[in-house]
Amino acid sequence: MKKLKLKGFKLRKPNINPFVRMSLGLVCLTLCMVLVGDMVLGLTSDERRALLDQRKKICETLAVQFSELAEAGEVDTIRKSMQSLVSGNADVMSTALVDIKGKTLAFAGDHATHWEPPGGESSTPTHAQVPIFSGDKKWGTVEVSFAKTELDFSGLMEDPLVQFLAFLAIAGFAAYMFFMKKTLKNLDPKAVIPDRVRSALDLLAEGVVMVDRKGDIVLANLAFASKAEKDVNALLGQSLSKMTWHSNDVKKKRVKDKNLPWARAMKEGGNQTDVLLSLTTNKDEKRHFSINSSPIMDDKENMRGAMVTFNDETALQQANAVLVDMMDKLKSSQEQAKLQNAELQRLATQDPLTSCLNRRSFFEQADLAWAKAVAEGEPLACIMTDIDRFKSINDKFGHMVGDQVIEAVAKLLVSNFRKTDLICRYGGEEFCILMPGAELDQAVKVAEQARATIAKSVSEQLKTKEPLQVTSSFGVSSLKHGAKDVAGVINQADKALYLAKQSGRDKVSRWDQVRDNKAA
Ligand code: GH3
Ligand code: MG
Ligand code: MG
Repeated sequence: MKKLKLKGFKLRKPNINPFVRMSLGLVCLTLCMVLVGDMVLGLTSDERRALLDQRKKICETLAVQFSELAEAGEVDTIRKSMQSLVSGNADVMSTALVDIKGKTLAFAGDHATHWEPPGGESSTPTHAQVPIFSGDKKWGTVEVSFAKTELDFSGLMEDPLVQFLAFLAIAGFAAYMFFMKKTLKNLDPKAVIPDRVRSALDLLAEGVVMVDRKGDIVLANLAFASKAEKDVNALLGQSLSKMTWHSNDVKKKRVKDKNLPWARAMKEGGNQTDVLLSLTTNKDEKRHFSINSSPIMDDKENMRGAMVTFNDETALQQANAVLVDMMDKLKSSQEQAKLQNAELQRLATQDPLTSCLNRRSFFEQADLAWAKAVAEGEPLACIMTDIDRFKSINDKFGHMVGDQVIEAVAKLLVSNFRKTDLICRYGGEEFCILMPGAELDQAVKVAEQARATIAKSVSEQLKTKEPLQVTSSFGVSSLKHGAKDVAGVINQADKALYLAKQSGRDKVSRWDQVRDNKAA
């Protein structure tokens, strides 16, 4: 059937809240039932009913009396009787006798003012039309105007039934509204969603939720319910915002209701995409979601709610976390390995007490320096040094102090020589120093400085109870004095050292002195 359309007219349904509409309907229904009950059971007040009965009786009496008088043609008696009715009855305001043709034959009271024809032959509680018969034939009508005072609006409001009905209408409306708001929330919204749609949504691996304007869930598919670890029916009517949502960033803060993607979609009226949030489930487990949300509008562009989809990224996040953890561990173990290698390198190349080169490492580097000096024709000097009368230091002050003396001498040697010089702890309290690029005289000069520093500073540094004098003897040689290799030049320096010891210690001797002494 085609709908009738009127050009230029648009029929609009009033936009009344369904709760209001339903409550009004229920109020009307209740009032009708009460009124029907009143009619059937006679609940109306006795006073009002008595008044109506009295008026009815007056009309009936008039009908009987006046019909008899009309039949006898006694219009005057009817007129007198009407006048005594109006004067003797306060409830009757006026009355008139009208013949069948509508002509007023007699009247009593101010009938022109009081009479309001009810229409047709009907009567109202205030205006009655009583038919008068002469025999079987209708002869005329007696019109009776009753007092309005008892039946006007204010009188009506005093009527207990009317008061009761007014109370019922107002209180009923409020009660129905409250009751429906409470109960309709718990009504099964499944009925609103066709089964086909529901089954299709349940097939999706992605969680799908529809919320109303307040953020309460009106639809949730199985995927979302299982991820949230809730029963799908228990979710309906629940607030999606009240579930524990946390941000996925480093702070992991609880997200405020107004900042949740569906709340923003509804507030801003646009789509929210790829919002990363985590949900804490009943078992205190965290599920990570990538959330999209779109507002739902009705055909009048009113906001009705939001559609929200949840993409579970928990496995991805967990894999990422494991990966990051592994990377961190790898990095720290790499750093640890690096440190351990450096330590191993140090242990392998250094003397643990003095941190000077050990003999193996010294010879490796010394051989290279020697080869380089020979190849490039560069000078190279070698110094041997030995702490004087060290045995007596050990004997007098103990091995601990002896060790401290060795350490202090090593430090002074390091500070006196260049970084490029190789300083080796050659034996117990014996050191060997190789000076690439240094001539014999330069080496003797540095050795002399070192000797003087040791003689001055070591005893000051150690601060023993009894005075401790530490000195060292030095022997110097160089590549130019004919040695074939590092061992050869060390041997020459050692011999020069022996000369220094023999010459009274705390001295610097040169290989050429040894050689000259031999020759002499
Ligand atoms: P000289 O002046 O002739 O060198 O006399 P000296 O007493 O120093 O004699 P020598 O060099 O032969 O003695 C070395 C002593 O150093 C022998 C040993 O007991 C001691 N010694 C060796 N290594 C260490 C060490 O690491 N710590 C300590 N405290 N003593 C050591
Ligand atoms: Mg010694
Ligand atoms: Mg020695």
